Amino acid sequence: MSSDSKSRHETLEENVVFHVHEVTKVYQMGEVQVRALRGVDIDLHRGEFTVLLGASGSGKSTLLNILGGLDIPTEGHVFYGERDLTRASERELTEYRRFHVGFVFQFYNLIPSLTARENVAVVTEIAKSPMKPEEALKLVGLESRLDHFPAQLSGGEQQRVAIARAIAKNPDVLLCDEPTGALDSKTGIVVLQALQRVNQALGTTTVVITHNAGIAQMADRVIHLTDGLISKVYKNETRLRPDELTW
Ligand code: ADP
Ligand code: MG
Repeated sequence: MSSDSKSRHETLEENVVFHVHEVTKVYQMGEVQVRALRGVDIDLHRGEFTVLLGASGSGKSTLLNILGGLDIPTEGHVFYGERDLTRASERELTEYRRFHVGFVFQFYNLIPSLTARENVAVVTEIAKSPMKPEEALKLVGLESRLDHFPAQLSGGEQQRVAIARAIAKNPDVLLCDEPTGALDSKTGIVVLQALQRVNQALGTTTVVITHNAGIAQMADRVIHLTDGLISKVYKNETRLRPDELTW
């Protein structure tokens, strides 16, 4: 047994989805090195709604991209269940992203020529055990917008289509990078409600990045990132509903 798998087993807990161990990420920009992550250790738990909070440039997107198999660390290990993502081949990472991870980004990236239903169907057609597009859109409150094109939808509605698209393949984890970043606070609340509803209805392990401390109050757990290091982790004793948040 290698020392890596040994340490893995020592820390293995039933409800741990991600085990992040001493992860660093250095970007080489010509002569300059940017140390985006400087030794991150964290476990993420099954079904939890986690908010990853930190100032711009603190390394949030870098960490999320590593969790989602979009990027690999310079050093350290990321276990998804028993699987070490840092040792996975390109092909295994593609399979991992396709079947296990849903992504939501700040900009919705919907296909303009397809309706809401068709934008979701693009993903469900290649998934293993997908939801029906209609079912996913209902979960985010868009059952009356199935045949609307993106240009006929508000920003918040477009983001909810993007959430429906991400969850329709029934991913184990939902990774959201500043999902309310382009939205006013009222619209942002509706999007956060959709994310909370998905988390509660499907039990999808959810990570939401924000630089907005107000949003952290709806989380089960908050991970605070400062200059590429975790500076604070805490559980909210009482969670606020999205409509109770102020920002
Ligand atoms: P956040 O999402 O918290 O704003 P990021 O993870 O995007 O932070 O970035 C962390 C640091 O890494 C920043 O200093 C950023 O400029 C740098 N960085 C991020 N991505 C790259 C990249 N692809 N190439 C070079 N530097 C990068
Ligand atoms: Mg970012």
